[in-house]
Amino acid sequence: MWPRKLHWQILIALLLALAAGSLSGTTAGMFGVTCFEVYDFIGTLFLNALKMIIVPLIVSSIIVGIAGAGNSGAFGRLGGRTVLYYLSTTLFAILTGLFLVNLTQPGIVDGAPAREIIGLSEDAAAVTEKVAGKDAGDVVDIFLRMIPTNVVQAAADGEMLGLIFFSLLFGYFMTRIPESSGGALQRFWQGVYDVMMLITELVMKFAPLGVFGLVAKVVASTGFAAFKPLAVFFFTVLGGLLIHMLVTFPLLLRFIGSVSPLRQYRAMAPALLTAFSTASSSATVPVTMECVERNAGVSNRTASFVIPLGATVNMDGTALYECVAAMFIAQAYGLELTVAQQFVIVLLALLTSIGVAGIPAASLVAIAIILTAIGLPAEGIGLILAVDRVLDMCRTAVNVFSDACGAVIIARLEGEKDVLTDRQSA
Ligand code: ASP
Repeated sequence: MWPRKLHWQILIALLLALAAGSLSGTTAGMFGVTCFEVYDFIGTLFLNALKMIIVPLIVSSIIVGIAGAGNSGAFGRLGGRTVLYYLSTTLFAILTGLFLVNLTQPGIVDGAPAREIIGLSEDAAAVTEKVAGKDAGDVVDIFLRMIPTNVVQAAADGEMLGLIFFSLLFGYFMTRIPESSGGALQRFWQGVYDVMMLITELVMKFAPLGVFGLVAKVVASTGFAAFKPLAVFFFTVLGGLLIHMLVTFPLLLRFIGSVSPLRQYRAMAPALLTAFSTASSSATVPVTMECVERNAGVSNRTASFVIPLGATVNMDGTALYECVAAMFIAQAYGLELTVAQQFVIVLLALLTSIGVAGIPAASLVAIAIILTAIGLPAEGIGLILAVDRVLDMCRTAVNVFSDACGAVIIARLEGEKDVLTDRQSA
């Protein structure tokens, strides 16, 4: 029997993908077509559909949301609360990771640095080449791109920060022109936004299939063997992410947002599962918006501000991962880190997580930046590559959940009453 609720459908697809991927591997197939190619095809089709929605959805939702935010005082308060939420939760995530990695010391095996035992992954060279030459100066570069020289190109290149910045300005000034032209513009963007939400709903109907393809592909190519030597590192990251997900957020939801954490998990299930399978917060934005507005009942005014911006700026899972990974690699190289150096790691993890793009494996570049800053070779990244993809899926789910909790909590602080009520989560 096929369940009606989308999140159950996705969950079943996920389990089927685990079985199919591990049974088929990368080589099994029929009539000259491997199962792997089929998974890849289905997964890419779904990802493409999600990506297709992103630009028009983000632009229209921000413009509509900001235009509806009314006077600039309210807008400033919303912005202030959002930034405070982003920064404090990300910092808390990093500190959770730092505490755990100091406790478990995954880079040290039997009292000695574990670099030799773990060995660099085969594709280390390729990745090193990609991240080589990145240093702390690149962080500045990320912020420079916030103001795009050409919005059309920013949209084409997926430069989300630039696009968000422009849309914020556009929405704000749209309400400052005469009603004769401003009214028509507002109705136009509202229309675009409504249509984009409907397209998102349509794409989500195919989510179980897409998730199957994406996850089966990862399982088929990674397998389970890669995890053994990196088990302690793997579980340290996972433990940190779980603490953040199951302790920190519920406390914030309950005591600051005064809403039920269980309802929030239920409302966000499709977004969490999509984030997990795509390992991309950006690609998940349409689903997160839909869950936050339709399932949790957050207004478009709040959601359109907190979600798209959060997808690039607010990455709790990524920041935690960067910190644990950098500490792990330093331990594996036998580097004793002073408190001051650990502080540098925390600070860089915070800053780079803001600039990291919401796409798969984006944090590897950030980790290279951190490694260089503490005097380690960027190729140290090779140590974690074998488990990066699966941890990417997990941290992306945390990134997305943080945005969603932010939207709910800020909506409550802004006085919205219909958030996560009985009616919404029914
Ligand atoms: N894949 C992550 C995301 O999209 C970014 C990363 O940590 O690599 O949120």
